[in-house]
Amino acid sequence: MDKRHQDIISFIRNLYQTTEFIPLHEPKFFGNEKAYVIDCIDSTFVSSVGKYVDRFEQEMAKYTGARYAVATVNGTAALHIALKLAGVNQDDEVITQSLSFVATCNAISYCGAKPVFVDVDRATLGMSPDSLHFFLSTNTIQASGGCINKTTGRKISAVVPMHTFGLPCRVDEIANICEEFGITLIEDTAESLGSYYKGKHTGTIGKLAAFSFNGNKTITTGGGGMIITDDETLAKRAKHITTTAKQPHPYEFIHDEIGYNYRLPNINAALGCAQMESLPRLLESKRSIAREYAKFFSASKNIAFISEPAQSEPNHWLNALILEDKQARDVFLKELNEAGVMSRPIWRLMNELPMFKACQASDLTNAKWLEERVVNIPSSARIQ
Ligand SMILES: *Cc1c(COP(=O)(O)O)cnc(C)c1O
Repeated sequence: MDKRHQDIISFIRNLYQTTEFIPLHEPKFFGNEKAYVIDCIDSTFVSSVGKYVDRFEQEMAKYTGARYAVATVNGTAALHIALKLAGVNQDDEVITQSLSFVATCNAISYCGAKPVFVDVDRATLGMSPDSLHFFLSTNTIQASGGCINKTTGRKISAVVPMHTFGLPCRVDEIANICEEFGITLIEDTAESLGSYYKGKHTGTIGKLAAFSFNGNKTITTGGGGMIITDDETLAKRAKHITTTAKQPHPYEFIHDEIGYNYRLPNINAALGCAQMESLPRLLESKRSIAREYAKFFSASKNIAFISEPAQSEPNHWLNALILEDKQARDVFLKELNEAGVMSRPIWRLMNELPMFKACQASDLTNAKWLEERVVNIPSSARIQ
């Protein structure tokens, strides 16, 4: 084995004080999780209504600084509804980054819309405002219907940047570009709970944002998601259509449009309430791990640790490295995984997947460069 890899494995084993398998990110339940779940069971309110759903929503609004929060069954459902409420319709286009998790593009597809791909920044791994601006200024015209893609004749109805691994992207510049071209900004904050950009929580810059509480995220509800927004009308609509579009009535079924059964069960929200209480401790532990990694890798000539982008306070959800090239990456992945220390490559580019191959894409030099080199290393909080 490569001596440098041996040193890295020893360092990570020492960091987590274990000789056993080290996963990439495991959930931590050290607070009121059990008590709240048992309370749900004892009360019989385990399903679609209950006090924990309301409480979880209120706590997410308070924590992020958004006016409203609406819980959903998962992050993909939150993205789907956020896009729909932003006015993404059949045959529209939505600009997103090619280097992302597939859920963003899936949600765009559920609206009958097509993703269009722009590049990312090397420092943030998130959408590049320069790439976005270049694409919009060379490929679109302003018409009465909005911003129209000259090549396809379709309306571009939303831009969805993603805060990769919790590293905030340059979302204020992206917001200004969206304003200039008359396009709605939606933030995919699935990975960035606890991440701040220029003092604001990620997700509060766009019109709407979507969080995920999947098992591998910073906090988990088993499965779950959340839409946040400052717009009261959109928040009410989000609640309505994620709960089968049923009008409030003591016993009658009156549904006034096609709704979705996207609500978060109370038993999952109970986990969420307990996890929110633990969030500051989780973030503190994750920050200390990131610091130790940064220090360790600062001595490395061939491996770069991805550090905090300018003017941001990331949640350090998943720590990431940039290796020399694809071949070095493949050896790294093989040797760490064989030694029981989990490591994973970043996602394949979305425009290379069969279902999105035909979608329009701008120059993706950075995305391609990163795709071949970036790996994640174990990042769970160190709390027993
Ligand atoms: C996890 C994730 C989602 C979707 O979340 P689910 O809760 O798994 O549906 C969406 N976008 C990104 C970038 C994610 O990492």
